[in-house]
Amino acid sequence: MRTVLISGASIAGLSLAYWLRRHGFQPTLVERAPALRSGGQAVDIRGAAREVVARMGITDTIRAHHTGTHGIAWLNEKGERVAAMAGGDFGDSGGIVAEIEILRGDLVRILHEAAGTEMEILYDNVITEITEEAEGAKVTFDKAPPRSFDLVVGADGLRSGVRALTFGQDKEFVRDLGYYTAYFPARTTLDLDGWEVMYNLPAANGVDGRVAILYPLGDTGEVRALFGFVSPEPAYDRRDTQTQKKLLAGVFAGAGWEIPALIERLWQTDDLYFARVGEIRVDHWYRGRTVLLGDSAFGGSLGMGTSMALVGAYVLAGELATANGDHRVAFAQYDNEMRAYVTANMKRPPGGANGFAPRTRRGIWMRNQFMRALPHLPGSGKMIGGIQKAANSITLKPYAGATIT
Ligand SMILES: Cc1cc2nc3c(=O)[nH]c(=O)nc-3n(C[C@H](O)[C@H](O)[C@H](O)COP(=O)(O)OP(=O)(O)OC[C@H]3O[C@@H](n4cnc5c(N)ncnc54)[C@H](O)[C@@H]3O)c2cc1C
Repeated sequence: MRTVLISGASIAGLSLAYWLRRHGFQPTLVERAPALRSGGQAVDIRGAAREVVARMGITDTIRAHHTGTHGIAWLNEKGERVAAMAGGDFGDSGGIVAEIEILRGDLVRILHEAAGTEMEILYDNVITEITEEAEGAKVTFDKAPPRSFDLVVGADGLRSGVRALTFGQDKEFVRDLGYYTAYFPARTTLDLDGWEVMYNLPAANGVDGRVAILYPLGDTGEVRALFGFVSPEPAYDRRDTQTQKKLLAGVFAGAGWEIPALIERLWQTDDLYFARVGEIRVDHWYRGRTVLLGDSAFGGSLGMGTSMALVGAYVLAGELATANGDHRVAFAQYDNEMRAYVTANMKRPPGGANGFAPRTRRGIWMRNQFMRALPHLPGSGKMIGGIQKAANSITLKPYAGATIT
């Protein structure tokens, strides 16, 4: 049986493991965290990715975990709602808020169950070296004995370890987008009535625009919070959670609204995801027996990361099966099949981080006015239609064994 080592047990890695097993390969996962990472807010499943989850037979399970969030609302500095966009506003898979939204942690769990919970996952471990040999790739780990696999997949996110080992340093592949995002579980006493809310703050405390987003979990008062801010990259150890918390608390110090209560929660959480946002550009997603998938290959889109990871896993496993495991043929085919779809989905609207976290009070006011007017602007349908078109811009091949659910 052909063996595949997948680095990263998240959306991309677990979906790939599912499809590889279905096609008769034997995947092993290696994950840096000590368990599956359940953090994050909701992720969107759009366009062709909806067909992929249908072919996996998990659409009903995913729908059963739908967050039920109605849409997103923008708040002014007093915390009053000034603009809103509902999930069903535009098109078949939703507008800025997708029609299928699921908490990232729920999707990870569903994918793990679909792939088979008995599957081998080396937790709390990373690959330290990959040596290509005639018959396979010899891999060393930081906390396990060396092993050989037929193929190695980097599904280990924006700052991929496999990409660094095989392709080169991050600076060659990561275009810095100038801001940070951090996700953590929290509570609120606000009545959000099932709406996600976005609250912006102008530049202060040594950084540019700042933003807090609350994503409600039903009407329980539980929320998934996001803190974001625009800033040049300071020198600090980005893996150290206490340093990250201190940085965030400092950036949001002195702010009103719900921020002080959120900072309290931030100090308590052991589930903080903190990332500098970047866009990944890699000319060819494969080198020898190693291939990249998901955020490590094409991360940094606006809301399409999960969908592209799901579609990419389907295509990569399908091409490997079609080529009978011949990676030279399969990897080139995977790149070929995915490239135009990925390019279409990596387009970003103008404005970048400034639209997300404007620098000034006036900038925040203008962004909110724009969001308020957007659904009524001529051409807005086209803009949102563009998201739909890009999300559907791949025709999924009916790989043998992949269409019966
Ligand atoms: C905890 C967390 C929360 C997130 N929250 C959101 C969110 O709220 N909204 C959103 O749109 N996107 C979020 N994302 C990103 C989103 O999951 C991805 O953009 C998308 O789903 C593509 O997934 P991926 O599997 O390619 O990458 P990721 O989901 O980033 O997964 C990468 C996996 O690789 C592991 N890993 C990293 N480095 C190594 C290494 N060297 N060796 C082994 N394993 C490694 C990570 O722990 C992680 O499990 C989050 C990601 C994580 C990890």
